[in-house]
Amino acid sequence: MSRYFTEKYASLTPYTPGEQPRDMQYIKLNTNESPYAPAARVTRAAAEESGRLQLYSDPECVELRAQLAKVYGVRPEQILMTNGSDEVLNFAFMAFADERHPMAFADITYGFYSVFAELNHIPYTEIPLKEDYSIDPADYIGLGKMIVIANPNAPTGLCLPLADIEKIVQSNPDHVVIVDEAYVDFGCDSAVGLIREYPNLLVIQTASKSRSLAGLRVGWALGNEDLIAALRCVRDSINSYTVDRVAQAAAAAAIRDKAYFEKTRLAIMDTREKTLERLVALGFQTAPSKANFLFARHSSLPGKEIFQALRERGILVRRWDLPRIQDHLRISIGTNEEMTTLCTALEDILKR
Ligand SMILES: *Cc1c(COP(=O)(O)O)cnc(C)c1O
Repeated sequence: MSRYFTEKYASLTPYTPGEQPRDMQYIKLNTNESPYAPAARVTRAAAEESGRLQLYSDPECVELRAQLAKVYGVRPEQILMTNGSDEVLNFAFMAFADERHPMAFADITYGFYSVFAELNHIPYTEIPLKEDYSIDPADYIGLGKMIVIANPNAPTGLCLPLADIEKIVQSNPDHVVIVDEAYVDFGCDSAVGLIREYPNLLVIQTASKSRSLAGLRVGWALGNEDLIAALRCVRDSINSYTVDRVAQAAAAAAIRDKAYFEKTRLAIMDTREKTLERLVALGFQTAPSKANFLFARHSSLPGKEIFQALRERGILVRRWDLPRIQDHLRISIGTNEEMTTLCTALEDILKR
């Protein structure tokens, strides 16, 4: 590392994204991307807008926020658009926590939370998931810290009922509670309906998963006007144009296309259920997921071996070398054909 790198950042361990290999064609079930390309009208909107790239983008994302406001029954002032939801997560950590306002999140959850906490020098507590990898809401009731919960959680896919989310938000009135809903469209109830009632609730969503737009980088936060104004203050102190013209146009087209959204998310949920059944039949242990992935392990083979054997067969999944979950694989839901290929490969691997 450069000797010029400041002490403030030199000890950071950055987030490790899932592989995007170029050496060969893989069946990519490792980064929870949608197996379905965006609709033709979305790529057309992107192409059209690219003819206006000499102009700055709209920093307020007026059109996009109007679309989302309609979908969620909120006001545009209750929405902030960002460059993927990772960006707004960081803004929220910057805006609502610091050395004197610590944070809490699960020990097994989205890896970026601890990275953003370290980056911003925010002390944090990792609250262990229960033995069955579910979140115990009691751990968060009246905690008196800023809280971030992925719902459904990643990489477990487990969903916390809305009533539990509400209790957590209600019992921590002096701290912001972030509900990261990256996967909410695959079968979990959104907390968006609660933002009017709770000024400390911030809901974060993304176009990356259920809208087939991971490569576009569009995410957003929904919350009380004052929370959103604070986030905008942070954003405008860094970069007002984090959502570019092409991204705004394409994302607005995707939000407008309700039929395609419904079709693809239902297809993914359907494939998920079929895959779950097949994995269970192969002897995998897995819990019912409400996300576009399954989190599974097999008692007869270490996760590392299954991971490697799949890789050799051209199938990528995700795995972490962490104590509690080292034998688990997180398998993104692809097309029906891809999942059939996966199951056939697993059957073959387990036979040896
Ligand atoms: C994928 C993901 C995100 C971020 O996605 P963006 O592409 O940055 O919008 C946020 N939270 C969780 C839990 C995720 O899995």
